[in-house]
Amino acid sequence: MRALVIEDEKKTAQYLKKGLTENGFIIDVMENGEDGLHLAMTTEYSFIILDIMLPNRDGWSIITELRRCGKQTPVIFLTARDTINDRVKGLELGADDYLVKPFAFSELLARIKTILRRGPARYPEVLQVKDLEITFLKRKATRGTKRLDLRPKEFLLLWLLASHAGEILTRTYISEQVWDMNFDCNTNVVDVAVLRLRKKLDEPFPVKLLHSIRGVGYVLEDRSEENIS
Ligand code: CA
Repeated sequence: MRALVIEDEKKTAQYLKKGLTENGFIIDVMENGEDGLHLAMTTEYSFIILDIMLPNRDGWSIITELRRCGKQTPVIFLTARDTINDRVKGLELGADDYLVKPFAFSELLARIKTILRRGPARYPEVLQVKDLEITFLKRKATRGTKRLDLRPKEFLLLWLLASHAGEILTRTYISEQVWDMNFDCNTNVVDVAVLRLRKKLDEPFPVKLLHSIRGVGYVLEDRSEENIS
């Protein structure tokens, strides 16, 4: 899952990036409001951590603009402003949560998980395709009763494919979502990861779920009924 941190304090931004990356998220950091808003509008994020006092454009204006344009990405304000008025204003403008600095990382993480859990339409806790079941927060994937032993990137890749089950995903889209955006966009990396994932996901089982679409990308879907007919 990809998330955006808009924070001009370098130390805080790096601390957030490190902690969230360790917890399996892919983090983009923007240090000024204008670039932050641009990225928030053009990239699909699971959530945004937003400071209020920022160069170029403040956090209030960023969330106002996002919501005005119909972007419903969950936003958590993370700010030194701790008055009740600020808090209320943040929530009224459409933030999903509001956390005051200094903060405990564990609390931030707990709130992120709550937010990701909240909207079942956007972030189902468990994804299911045929006998494949994936629980994002537990980093757990099983087929039938067998647990799949996946590396972090393989898990993210599987989650991405499963959350778009039946949809063909291009290599470029996959590499953007699963690897860092600055990643040298060598789509070979995607192919290699898919190969590894397939070994664990499909090889031991009679019904194959992960399919290659020649020259385009990959799709995860249950085609077993087609095969029968
Ligand atoms: Ca600031």
